[in-house]
Amino acid sequence: MTATPGDELVFLPLGGSNEIGMNFNLYGFGPPQARKWIVVDLGVTFGDQTTPGVEIILPDPTFIEAHAKDILGIVLTHAHEDHIGAVAWLWPRLQAPLYATPFTAFLLREKLREADLLDEAQITEIPLSGTLTLGPFEITLITLTHSIPEPNGLAIRTPLGTILHTGDWKIDPDPLLGAPTDQDAIRRLGDEGVLAMVCDSTNVFVDGEAGSEAQVRIALNALIGQLKGKIAAACFASNVARMDSIIRAAQANDRRVCLVGRSMIRMAAAARSVGLLSDIAPFVTDAEAGYFPADKVLYLCTGSQGEPRAALARVADGTHPHVNLGQGDACIFSSRIIPGNEVPIRNLQNKLADRGVRLYTERDHPGLHVSGHPCRDELKRMYQWARPQIAVPTHGERRHLLEHVNLARDLQVAQALAPRNGDMVRLAPGQATIIDEVTAGRLYVDAGVVTPENGEALRERRHAAFNGVLTVSVALDRKGRIASGPQVRALGLPGDADYPLDDALDDLADEAETALKKLSGDDRGDDHAVETALSRAVKKAAFRIWERRPVVETTVLRV
Ligand SMILES: [Zn+2]
Ligand SMILES: [Zn+2]
Repeated sequence: MTATPGDELVFLPLGGSNEIGMNFNLYGFGPPQARKWIVVDLGVTFGDQTTPGVEIILPDPTFIEAHAKDILGIVLTHAHEDHIGAVAWLWPRLQAPLYATPFTAFLLREKLREADLLDEAQITEIPLSGTLTLGPFEITLITLTHSIPEPNGLAIRTPLGTILHTGDWKIDPDPLLGAPTDQDAIRRLGDEGVLAMVCDSTNVFVDGEAGSEAQVRIALNALIGQLKGKIAAACFASNVARMDSIIRAAQANDRRVCLVGRSMIRMAAAARSVGLLSDIAPFVTDAEAGYFPADKVLYLCTGSQGEPRAALARVADGTHPHVNLGQGDACIFSSRIIPGNEVPIRNLQNKLADRGVRLYTERDHPGLHVSGHPCRDELKRMYQWARPQIAVPTHGERRHLLEHVNLARDLQVAQALAPRNGDMVRLAPGQATIIDEVTAGRLYVDAGVVTPENGEALRERRHAAFNGVLTVSVALDRKGRIASGPQVRALGLPGDADYPLDDALDDLADEAETALKKLSGDDRGDDHAVETALSRAVKKAAFRIWERRPVVETTVLRV
């Protein structure tokens, strides 16, 4: 295929640029009015204390949804949640065929099955290093190393130039599972000519190299060998190489392994589907493990980030039905603290320590974890191999992306730019430039419902959490006279001996009654006018009492 005049090649991030999470990247080819698109990754990000009740956050697909018929395919680089987690939520809006390597496809099918979409969505498995042609895009997978099986970079050849979309990667010379980074493929691509490299920025501030899973294996082995009581080890379930290392260290020290937590069990099944974790002793169930002597068992647990419902949190709370840890036992955290999770992790670790459990974390035992993302020396090597004309950093917060631009410039890359979500970058023809700004944002999954960012329900919840709630109810007869009430009740508002809450509520009720009596007869016949008057009076009085603005709910009954 060759380019015709008017054709353009564009890159459009709709998630993952200016944040670490919810990666959602688009490439478009053709004249502006008739572009064909491919989507690379469709991930989620997670809520925090600022989004009470919202755990899953999705990228807003509004722009591309309008062009859904022009999406040639959705290609998934690897199975981390920030790359595939939104597929089951957003696929119905995009309806495009899905492409992934076998391990990723296994987990994807599970997600689609849970969402009842497996019959509708079409998933095509691509072998590692395989090639796939979607209209003007010829996509070849490049095997990389990361912290999950089957991480792929994409060489995307188009009539206007080749893009290297790295996905998540590091250069691990000994990843334990899977092949090392396919340097030759990247160098060959560099020889052929790379127009643009769209690249992971997570560790751009970290000098040196991320380190190898093989080093972690040695550290885990040494540590597990010297521990005596029960051992719980926590790591990301998706890091199958890490699981494998912990399992082998346990076996070498005559301990049976028990998987605790649903995602551990799911990931072990996914790993086995592609031939990993194949030559290890069978796992024991948590019920069986309870009968083993303390020094003959190792629990491999979910919950390294302090997730409240995960296995480790239940162990720490003493509410797990089968696993209990105490004096003389150990807990190994073979993971890092994801920014934002500091407080829940600290709480979890304090609870475990309180039970007498000794803690072993990356902070005191630096060998227990390595990052899955490239540090500066690795980034430099990637630029030397690929030699792109344009650097487009992604997978980072603003500061990461801008530092990555600086690094690329230092490495003599001719052009470097850091688009924000929604910035459409024309990569060719001509200089790389941002040519348009389209809708981008977040959607919140609130109680299973996809809602706009900061939608009404969450706003009210947040408001109520900080300010409390007052309910005012009154019963009026047909002529608008008060039959009973007004009555005011409170949720989340304080009182004390000098001014008990009941007195405050009585005062609020008096204010409400006064406001009601001031209304004309006509207005008293109008529910809306009554509600407004009650609400206004109670809000004003509440502010006088508490200097807060509680949520006020009014009910008018007609008797
Ligand atoms: Zn990843
Ligand atoms: Zn990622």
